[in-house]
Amino acid sequence: MDSELRQSQRPSDANPSRAAQPRPHICILGGGFGGLYTAVYLQKFRATRRDRVKITLIDRDQQFLFTPLLYELITHELQTWEIAPFYQQLLAHTSVQFCQDSVQGVNLQARRVDLEQGQSLSYDYLVVATGSQTRYVDIPGLKEYGLPFRTLVDAERLKLRLHELELRSQPKTSILIIGAGPSGVELACKLADQLGRRAQITLADRGSQILEPFSDSLRRAASRALTRRGVEVLLQTSAEQIEANRTQLKTGDRQFWYPADLLLWTAGTQLRPWVGYSPISQSEQGQFLTRPTLQLQGHPEVFVVGDVATVQSRRGGPAPNTAQAAYQAADRVAENLNAAITGKKLKPFHYAHLGDMLTLGIGSAVVDSSLGLTLTGKLAAIARRGVYTFRLPTWRHRLKVVRHLLRSGLRQIWRWRR
Ligand SMILES: Cc1cc2nc3c(=O)[nH]c(=O)nc-3n(C[C@H](O)[C@H](O)[C@H](O)COP(=O)(O)OP(=O)(O)OC[C@H]3O[C@@H](n4cnc5c(N)ncnc54)[C@H](O)[C@@H]3O)c2cc1C
Repeated sequence: MDSELRQSQRPSDANPSRAAQPRPHICILGGGFGGLYTAVYLQKFRATRRDRVKITLIDRDQQFLFTPLLYELITHELQTWEIAPFYQQLLAHTSVQFCQDSVQGVNLQARRVDLEQGQSLSYDYLVVATGSQTRYVDIPGLKEYGLPFRTLVDAERLKLRLHELELRSQPKTSILIIGAGPSGVELACKLADQLGRRAQITLADRGSQILEPFSDSLRRAASRALTRRGVEVLLQTSAEQIEANRTQLKTGDRQFWYPADLLLWTAGTQLRPWVGYSPISQSEQGQFLTRPTLQLQGHPEVFVVGDVATVQSRRGGPAPNTAQAAYQAADRVAENLNAAITGKKLKPFHYAHLGDMLTLGIGSAVVDSSLGLTLTGKLAAIARRGVYTFRLPTWRHRLKVVRHLLRSGLRQIWRWRR
């Protein structure tokens, strides 16, 4: 263990105000896959129990969001409570205190977090997990007319907009989705199944293929699903200008107006900027430079997890910005926090890719495992649902969701029999 960390294990020596604190305080900024899962995984250790440490999780929202299942809200396959449980409920039986507020600034020297509503919290250990947000590029009309798809509010807004469009007398709604990454493809398939002949769905991307970083087998399955659902795919095509009912697209040298009652923007994601008062070392992409143990460079008492962390994968190269990478890293951050508190050696983290799963419409999916096995269709949808249910943040919540699933299954069987 290095001397820098030893210092961080005696934070009260450095600051008399903390000397009065009986228990070390772990402050977690952001309650997504990185932050919430760190808080939950900390419950495994004796040294991080209620009587030994104080853990505070801060998030500006009151609900966690299991983003991989956000599409199922649009098609009513799942209900909001299943994928967006309240932090207070999730953490009710743990040693974690939830604080709904927005982090305004972090003072790394004073080890203090300032919150929007005026409160300041001093910490002994800090976990930064503030994640990513939608990136709007400089396309005229994008902010006014483009709907993003990242948050619960975005999903509610999309449902409302679809409902308004359904009430019109026009027989067909045209929906243009910009960005043929996973969000664009999954949304296109779900909307096609949900709206059927009542909508024409188009997916545009400036790249030369859909789902650029994914495997060929997954890409082929997604292409087949899009074709089967009549989704038009425009590649090497970029949006130039957006108006209320049409979007100007550009393919090569050709510019043309495309009718679009609804424009969905799934092409841009950016990391949330560092909220500290003093600068920290960041990569070109804006990720906070960490050691292999996920400690912030120069600040061993600060751990970084999720999209904002620089993480190496087992195969070499950087880990992707995914929930899968975030919850794996959260497990290691919890373990390393326990090690730091108990004076043990911290371990490095390497991301292990387990595979990819995409929904390809109602009751359909593709699962591409790291073992080279690809499943498609209903079986893949069941496997995806099973894996994601198992990945929900706590056992209590998982059981609640499974109980609900069983009850609605039984109710359906009962209806069929009558
Ligand atoms: C629609 C969609 C589908 C996805 N599907 C998949 C998938 O199938 N598989 C997969 O692996 N990944 C998927 N992802 C990516 C995945 O959601 C992210 O990689 C993951 O959420 C990153 O976790 P995180 O903890 O870094 O950030 P987040 O989960 O984004 O959490 C960050 C949290 O910090 C809070 N926060 C930020 N700033 C502040 C502040 N200043 N004050 C207080 N709180 C703050 C936010 O409210 C948020 O709750 C998907 C993403 C989207 C948008």
